[in-house]
Order: sequence, then structure tokens, then C-alpha cells
Amino acid sequence: MPKYYYHCSNCDESYYVYHLMSETHEQCSKCGFENVEKLLTKPLYHKTKTIEQKTGQLTKKYIDDNKEVLENMKKEAKSEMYE
Ligand SMILES: [Zn+2]
Repeated sequence: MPKYYYHCSNCDESYYVYHLMSETHEQCSKCGFENVEKLLTKPLYHKTKTIEQKTGQLTKKYIDDNKEVLENMKKEAKSEMYE
């Protein structure tokens, strides 16, 4: 299972979470804050060289993921304003 590095701006904790690539982790496992930040992690080199070749794609995936998170945050902020 891939390992992801997250940072919580509420309790200022950084920690690793194991979850599937298709899954997301949004709630801080330390304090329960619901907007943890996914940090970019270096690719793991202990598997095969194909990982290195895919680094460009992975980086793009991370950027896309972060874009998605930002979009979701914007949507949430908007819906909160209208309520
Ligand atoms: Zn926290």
C-alpha cells in the first residue's frame, strides 16, 4: 500500500498515512481536523527502475490531486457562504 505524507495545519503535526492511491485522507489522525494537507513525497526507489521512469507522471498526478483538493476547498467555501 502506498505511503503518503500529510501535514495538519491545526495541530502542526506531520505524519505518514498508508492508503490506496484511489483513496483520500482528509481528517487529521491526531486531532480530527478535516483539512489536512497532502505533502509531496519523494518517489520510493526500493522497487524497480520503472518507478524512476514514471516519476514525471507521478508528479503530475500529485499536482492534479492537489488541484482537486483546492477545487473541493473552493466549493466548500462557496457553499458555506451561501448557507
Ligand atoms: Zn491535527
